Amino acid sequence: MTTTRISSLPSHIGQTVTLRGWIRAIRSSGKIRFIEFRDGSGDCQCTVEAIHPEAFSAFEGLGQESSLALTGEVREEPRSVGGVEVSIQAAEVLHISEDYPISRKEHGIDFLMQHRHLWLRSNRQNAILRIRHRIITAARGFFDQDGFTLIDTPIFQPGAAEGAGTLFDVDYFGEPAYLAQTGQLYLETAAMAMGKVYCFGPTFRAEKSKTRRHLTEFWMIEPEVAFAELEDLEVLSERFLSYIVQEVLTHNRDDLESLGRDVSALEAIQAPFPRVTYSEAVDLLHHPDLHAKLEAELAAEQTRLQELQKEISNKEGQLAQVSKAWKVEKLNREIRDLQEQAKELDLWIQNQPAHIEDAKTFEWGSDFGGDEETILSKQFDRPLIVTEYPREVKAFYMKRNPSDPRTVRNLDVLAPEGYGEIIGGSQREDELDVLMKRMEEEGMDPEPYQWYLDMRRYGSVPHGGFGLGIERTVSWICGLKHIRETIPFPRLMGRMMP
Ligand code: ATP
Ligand code: MN
Repeated sequence: MTTTRISSLPSHIGQTVTLRGWIRAIRSSGKIRFIEFRDGSGDCQCTVEAIHPEAFSAFEGLGQESSLALTGEVREEPRSVGGVEVSIQAAEVLHISEDYPISRKEHGIDFLMQHRHLWLRSNRQNAILRIRHRIITAARGFFDQDGFTLIDTPIFQPGAAEGAGTLFDVDYFGEPAYLAQTGQLYLETAAMAMGKVYCFGPTFRAEKSKTRRHLTEFWMIEPEVAFAELEDLEVLSERFLSYIVQEVLTHNRDDLESLGRDVSALEAIQAPFPRVTYSEAVDLLHHPDLHAKLEAELAAEQTRLQELQKEISNKEGQLAQVSKAWKVEKLNREIRDLQEQAKELDLWIQNQPAHIEDAKTFEWGSDFGGDEETILSKQFDRPLIVTEYPREVKAFYMKRNPSDPRTVRNLDVLAPEGYGEIIGGSQREDELDVLMKRMEEEGMDPEPYQWYLDMRRYGSVPHGGFGLGIERTVSWICGLKHIRETIPFPRLMGRMMP
């Protein structure tokens, strides 16, 4: 008995198939039962009628997430998910699930995080996992088709590349070692061997703050290209991101829609992307037009909050007039949803005046934080390429800017709709003496970096690259509020289970 996957059912109309999977929900109505069945590839509606008594009674008392093998005929049914329905003639119960902890009623985020291993079975998480998979496949595919060679860089590393503050240390047979914050230093040397290379692997940063965009373990894909200068990296990042978004739109439109994602915002992601220098971005933050726009947005959100509060009290009024349990439950759920929205909006309104003030008083020379990035990236409908940051806030290996030595030849790409930085990269310092001097200024001991400096001794060439954080990309493309849903088992400060 071969198993048919739910995703392929549309090509089996009129045939008898066997599905293996789990019950999402079950509802009986007299002589017919409706089963929402899932197998990981998708969901489908199955029906079983009392005229098949054995199959019909097999479902008696089965809880959510019980596993079964179902055999039946595939029929076209435009009103069902996927446009098909399966009429079951035989059912084999594989395992009975009782008291499944996650029900249709909503659960708090802590509860869901503790049950992450089960939460992954939900429609929403299935959609995110599929999109994550697509983003990774597309990212690799892009470089593979573009003549890049995959280079696997080490995870145990002897030192920092991105700032000692976020290093995780491990005991390496009595010697200190650290988990990789990036593969970059190794990748640069490999670019001198292979020309165009990329690495893709888990990346570790001991981020000691809780934000909606930081994990302590995340996945980063990093291209590195010999003979590439800053302008080439801008074009590469633009082509790369457009391709990834296009692939998701082509293959995962249903998933995006099921997440409630505004697909038209993604359709706008096409080259060319806007470009500003850091200095121009600072001017933008200081511009009165921006402040007027932010004030107007604040006023609009205040009005929306009032409307939400009105809607909540309306529903609370209705609550006194209904008696049916399911109606009470439905209203309560809606009220809780609205309260949740109102709470979030209220918090945003509370914080916004300070953010506007920060934009006004932002000083040239500091790094952009999440708030500045959010404000900047909200002003554009495509990713914003910001270049040439002050050298003090950037890593030692970035090439100093010949036209303005206060800055470096780097780029950050900020995703629109307020998502902020998803790509960070730069042209690298290719002059040995300049790099050595910079390391000295930073108080770095050059000794352990001799291997890294060698490429500046033997045929040094201009080169550069960047890193794309997969999870931030998933967050943006799926339209999620928090990075914790973008990876199957998130690692955050204060959470390592399950
Ligand atoms: P941020 O300033 O937002 O912490 P960063 O400047 O430390 O980011 P880079 O070192 O440039 O980031 O890393 C390249 C990319 O890796 C970032 O653009 C982002 O997509 C991703 N990234 C960095 N740190 C994290 C993290 N803690 N969790 C998830 N993704 C991250
Ligand atoms: Mn960081």
